[in-house]
Amino acid sequence: MAKIISYQRPESLEDALNLISQEKHIPLAGGTLLNAGEDVEPLHLVDLQGLDLKRIEEAKGRLQIGSMVTLDEVIKNTNCPESIRISARSELPSTLRALATIGGTVASADSHSQLLACLLVHEAEVTILGPNGESTSPLSDVLGNLEIFNSQLILSISIATDGKCVFEATGRTPADTPIVSVTTRKCDAGYRMAITGVAATPVLVDHENPTLSLEPPSDFRGSSKYRMQLAEVLSSRTLNSMDGDN
Ligand SMILES: Cc1cc2nc3c(=O)[nH]c(=O)nc-3n(C[C@H](O)[C@H](O)[C@H](O)COP(=O)(O)OP(=O)(O)OC[C@H]3O[C@@H](n4cnc5c(N)ncnc54)[C@H](O)[C@@H]3O)c2cc1C
Repeated sequence: MAKIISYQRPESLEDALNLISQEKHIPLAGGTLLNAGEDVEPLHLVDLQGLDLKRIEEAKGRLQIGSMVTLDEVIKNTNCPESIRISARSELPSTLRALATIGGTVASADSHSQLLACLLVHEAEVTILGPNGESTSPLSDVLGNLEIFNSQLILSISIATDGKCVFEATGRTPADTPIVSVTTRKCDAGYRMAITGVAATPVLVDHENPTLSLEPPSDFRGSSKYRMQLAEVLSSRTLNSMDGDN
């Protein structure tokens, strides 16, 4: 468990930002990762639960999800696309889903997160508050630049809600976190495809050539070559399944 040397619960975004700009001050959301961490480096926790970051609302034809919305709340919200609700359910066991937040999921950037893959294909954009004010960036850019969270706060994640999604995954059992998974969405603009387990974070790929430029890491669950093979097979299955439905 992390060594916590202070706990603060700011009630304004300004106070929260001032706190996390100080050395070793870190945002606390659901705490499922922070409290489970084995890092003994002393930390000052800045709890985000006093901030107004728990809304799910429609804005400009997209759905905006506050960063402190828990995975359980995502699952229960019928305005969220079914694909997002299903992938939120697959992320963690129910006890942790009641705590873990969508903002924490983005900041943790787990390579195996099917929810992140699903957010990527739903054209997710992340609104972040930093010392220079608010900015909004595509989730794919944010996942490639994670050090920004050292002194910035995720406020919300917005997604496109149209289209249809198909998942394919291979894991030790159907309930295990997949070794590799592919999520493909088809909408008016065409296909968007994202893969987990083949890079440091889930990645968007070109559906016409999904494995181009992938260099999957090897570990005890699968070699690089095996993961590459899975990415090829699973991606073509999602496309076949999508086209078979038409
Ligand atoms: C047993 C177990 C299994 C897990 N399995 C998975 C899994 O399969 N897939 C997966 O993706 N994760 C997994 N995790 C990790 C974790 O549960 C998730 O990533 C979770 O969604 C983190 O959300 P949280 O709200 O609990 O974040 P916290 O633990 O509160 O924070 C995690 C990190 O995100 C930062 N952060 C949180 N919110 C914000 C914000 N709004 N702005 C800026 N930074 C922020 C924190 O500072 C911290 O660095 C697992 C954890 C445990 C304990």
